[in-house]
Amino acid sequence: MANTERCRKPSPLAALFVVSLSLCLRFSPASSSPQGFQGSAAARGLKQDQGNIHEHEVHCSRERSRAASKIIEEYLMPFIEKERYQLPNKCRLHPDYNFYGDQEQHKIHVDINEWRCGYCRKSFYEEKYLDRHFDNRHYDLLNVSQGKCLADLCGALHCDLVMDSVQKKTKCNPAAAVRNKHLCESLADSCFPVKEGPSSSRLHEFFLRQFCDAHTCNGRQKPFSKGRRKRRSIFFIAMSILVLLLLPLFYLFVYLYQRGIRRGTQDLRRVTESTRKKKPS
Ligand SMILES: [Zn+2]
Repeated sequence: MANTERCRKPSPLAALFVVSLSLCLRFSPASSSPQGFQGSAAARGLKQDQGNIHEHEVHCSRERSRAASKIIEEYLMPFIEKERYQLPNKCRLHPDYNFYGDQEQHKIHVDINEWRCGYCRKSFYEEKYLDRHFDNRHYDLLNVSQGKCLADLCGALHCDLVMDSVQKKTKCNPAAAVRNKHLCESLADSCFPVKEGPSSSRLHEFFLRQFCDAHTCNGRQKPFSKGRRKRRSIFFIAMSILVLLLLPLFYLFVYLYQRGIRRGTQDLRRVTESTRKKKPS
C-alpha cells in the first residue's frame, strides 16, 4: 500500500510537466518558422479549392503559384504571342504579378539531383529544399507590397489539374464552380477588353473557351479545350527539314563510296589478271 501511495504522490507534478511540455511544443519556433508559413499557405490553398478567393499578400502558396504560372505559360502565352498582344498593366495574368516570379527565375537546375540558388549559389538535392532555402534566407527579396499572389487565380485557372499532390475531387461544388466562373470571366474582361480591338476580342473569346467554360458541374466541357501550343514546334520543323535535306546527301555519299570500292576491286582484279597473263611469256 505504501508503495502505491509513493507512486501516486508525484502525479500532479507529472501532469504539470506534461502540460508544460505540450505548451512548449505548441509555441515552438517550428510553427512560426517559414515551414509553418508554408503550411498555412498550403492550407489557404486548400481553402481556395472551395472557392474562397481572398487577397493575401504575405501568405501565398508557392506550389499553387507555380502551377498557375505553368498553366499561363503553356495554355495562354503561346496564343497571346501569336496575336502579338500586350497584356494590360491591370491584368493579373501578367508575369510581373507573380509574387514568387523573381525567386523562380533564380532557380538553376544544374543536374537531376542538383538545384542551385541563383542569389547565393548554394546547392540542394531537391527543388523543395531550395524552396525552403528561399523562404528562410531570401524572404526579404519578395516584394510584398507590390507582389500579387498568383495562387489566388488558381480557382479560375484549374491549377489542380497540373498539380500531382492534389487529390482529385470526387464531387463538384456548384457554388464554387459559379464563383470560379465569375473570377474567370472577370479575368477575361480585365485582360482582354472586347473594345480594345480585334486581337483582344479574339483572345477574350479564346480565354472563355479555354478556361471559363469548364467551370460547371455538368462535366460536358473540359478545361484547356483549345489545347496547348508548343513553342519548340519551330525548332522541330527546322530540324526535320534539315534531316530531310541531309538524308539524300547521306545516301549519295554511301552510294559513291560503295561504287568507289567496287571500282577499286575491279581495277585490282584487272591488274592481277594482266600480271598473270604476262608471267608465262
Ligand atoms: Zn540563396
